[in-house]
Amino acid sequence: MTDTIAAIATGGGVSAVGILRVSGDGAIAAADKMFRAKNGIMPAGAQSRRMYYGELYGIDGRLIDLCMCMISRAPDSYTGEDTVELHCHGSPVVLAEALRTLFSFGVRQAQAGEFTKRAFLNGRMDLTQAEAVIDLIEAETAFAVRNAAGQLQGAICLKLESVYSSLLDVMAHFHAVVDYPDEDIDEFQMQNHINALQSAADELSRLLATHERGMILRDGVPTAIVGRPNTGKSSLLNALLGYDRAIVTEVPGTTRDTVEEKAVVGGVLLRLIDTAGLRETEDTIERLGAERTRSALRSAGLAILVLDGSEPLHNEDHNVLRLVPADIPKLVVVNKSDLPHAISEDELSEFSPGFCRVSALTGDGLDAMTVEIREMFPELKTPPSGDVLTSARQAEAISQAYEAVGHAIEAIDASVTPDAVLTEVEAALAAIGEVTGKVMREDVVSRIFERFCVGK
Ligand code: GDP
Repeated sequence: MTDTIAAIATGGGVSAVGILRVSGDGAIAAADKMFRAKNGIMPAGAQSRRMYYGELYGIDGRLIDLCMCMISRAPDSYTGEDTVELHCHGSPVVLAEALRTLFSFGVRQAQAGEFTKRAFLNGRMDLTQAEAVIDLIEAETAFAVRNAAGQLQGAICLKLESVYSSLLDVMAHFHAVVDYPDEDIDEFQMQNHINALQSAADELSRLLATHERGMILRDGVPTAIVGRPNTGKSSLLNALLGYDRAIVTEVPGTTRDTVEEKAVVGGVLLRLIDTAGLRETEDTIERLGAERTRSALRSAGLAILVLDGSEPLHNEDHNVLRLVPADIPKLVVVNKSDLPHAISEDELSEFSPGFCRVSALTGDGLDAMTVEIREMFPELKTPPSGDVLTSARQAEAISQAYEAVGHAIEAIDASVTPDAVLTEVEAALAAIGEVTGKVMREDVVSRIFERFCVGK
């Protein structure tokens, strides 16, 4: 017997429709007490997954809304339990009233992610799919949605299933050898095991290689906008965001802290960091800001170096250029193209082979800059099908599995005793099991579902 949980599943505030979700053994009985279908069919007798129109009553038996009610009987529901959805008018007062009424019947408030946690515990989805639910809700680009939807369909667990199953075969054989020392593994079989382990390692390594792209998809590219004071960094940030976020003034050194905002530029999610102007200064606060700039550059995946095209190149511009690490893509943006050009094309080509002229003020050149940025991330040109690893937790566990498989191969090569091979293969299986949730660690599971919103 599970306790019955309920939550408002739709976002806060006024909306056209607001949905209440109820799940657990008592869900349908609770709906029976507060919903009366116009056609006279009680929720207890209703067909599963069919919408019924009717009246919704509050604690004191007074009508609170006319709504739609849908029940889904276990196990064919999101959570795998009896579930009721009440599609009300999207008034926060109506929803709160209906929720209070449910509580009066012994239903309790669901915790964050509890519906999805129940779905996982009832075998309706594995952990990678549960995590895809959060990714899908939080996706900020069309590609991120595609990948999360693919993961929700089980793209990752499908790949891991085949690795898991071949490792299981190897494990079974080595177990037999350890348990019955008379058993032996002949050379042909041993080669087969090595091949199986090698293909498992290859598959795990392929998956791991997608993680970098996964982080860009989910979290965006950390992008440092750098340049000496007053070149127009804050103005460029605002132009890209389409609204005023950073303080723009004519006094050099105003942006003393770093400002971070997300913007989808050319289909690429950028986490734009506007940094304090880089300048040698006696002002401690400004110096602090410059230090932040350096640290923003250290963790950046893209540097946008802003020059003021209405002034000749300064020494400081060269200093900033030198601070940009060589291993990150860099885009030189020559701002203020609406003013007379003070830097020639030749000087610019010498400064940096690639540059684009824009005006943050008029928006001129921003389209071309967008195209330039898209070109810098060719890996984001093709839509992902769900097998791109977005979760650091999954990547960490897969990396452990990959290492363990490698150790197992080394142990066989070095003709170490079978139990050493067995230990490594078991470690790999455990790590993969943690990714999918086959091996359940309560602390890991709790941490995952804490990230959810209430009602999901
Ligand atoms: P930051 O110190 O690099 O962040 O520079 P700001 O964005 O604060 O801009 C400094 C000054 O340059 C402000 O007066 C802006 O209005 C001006 N500015 C920024 N972009 C442009 C531009 O494209 N054209 C012109 N004419 N002025 C600009």
